[in-house]
Amino acid sequence: MIMKYRSDSLKLLGIEAALRRLSVSHPKYEYLTNQQKQITAGIVGEELLNKLFSRVTFKFEYFIFHDLHLKSTATFQMDSLFLTPYYAIIIEMKNIAGHIKIRKDHPQLERTLLTGKVDYFRNPIGQIVEITDVFEDFLQMHGMRLPIYQVIIFKDSNRFVEFDENSIPIFGLQELPHFIRTRPRVDVKLKPSQMKKLIDALVNNHHDYLPFPITTHFSIDSKDIVSGVRCQFCQVFSVEKAFREWRCMYCTKVFKTAHLDALNDYAMLLSNKISNKEFRSFLQIANPKQASDILRRMNLPMTGCKKKREYLLDYRNVKKPT
Ligand SMILES: [Zn+2]
Repeated sequence: MIMKYRSDSLKLLGIEAALRRLSVSHPKYEYLTNQQKQITAGIVGEELLNKLFSRVTFKFEYFIFHDLHLKSTATFQMDSLFLTPYYAIIIEMKNIAGHIKIRKDHPQLERTLLTGKVDYFRNPIGQIVEITDVFEDFLQMHGMRLPIYQVIIFKDSNRFVEFDENSIPIFGLQELPHFIRTRPRVDVKLKPSQMKKLIDALVNNHHDYLPFPITTHFSIDSKDIVSGVRCQFCQVFSVEKAFREWRCMYCTKVFKTAHLDALNDYAMLLSNKISNKEFRSFLQIANPKQASDILRRMNLPMTGCKKKREYLLDYRNVKKPT
């Protein structure tokens, strides 16, 4: 039974907004593109695991949690946790294409593509060892003890994985059910009441990780963010406020609510508060009266009066730009 799905889609939306509004020559552009790929790969990895768990079932009670952000002696994030009354398995699902080398004592995983391009990622062995330690602390803080197993899983199509002998199993996704079935289930370590208590602790202590504003999170100078309203059709920042609508000066397309996407970008990238002046500057509207009319019609919560007024943008509810 899946108890929790991934929640890092907000970070992905924020990174996509940054990539829309940074020049391709910006020093952080490539890094953000890689982050975007990693999150997308994580989402695909979770889908592959869920597909497997919908096809394969086990004759004992089990619960699956994805993307848990927890805190014990340190904050930590688990890709996937397979919990049973007998044991827990921390699953690190790696969805990385290419020829992969993992060295036990090397901080990085090396990936070589067919083109010869070499990229480095964090070594999952060190990562999972660290996570296990703090997860053990988490269990202890909640008065529980449970054997913890760890696995690093690669997609079945990913056949080129080289690794040093180490205590953490590394294998393809299709071998996971066998690994789960062959873990010892002699002693029940968690009675039903403890199991319920632990599930509640995992779900209730999970804190959604909000990486906003993205400029602060990734140390990007806010001056580097391109302002303006972007056209959904031609992708050019050339949409201007016309009398009752918004019009692209490049391709002449007309929009009713083009400002909402720009405001979503502002909330994710720069701040969850905006003044009339900042609104005009970001959406490139010359007329303050026109700007306050648009802001007023949006019924946003406000703080301050007159010149100090700021409108609050709730980036927890940022909508995916359409
Ligand atoms: Zn256009």
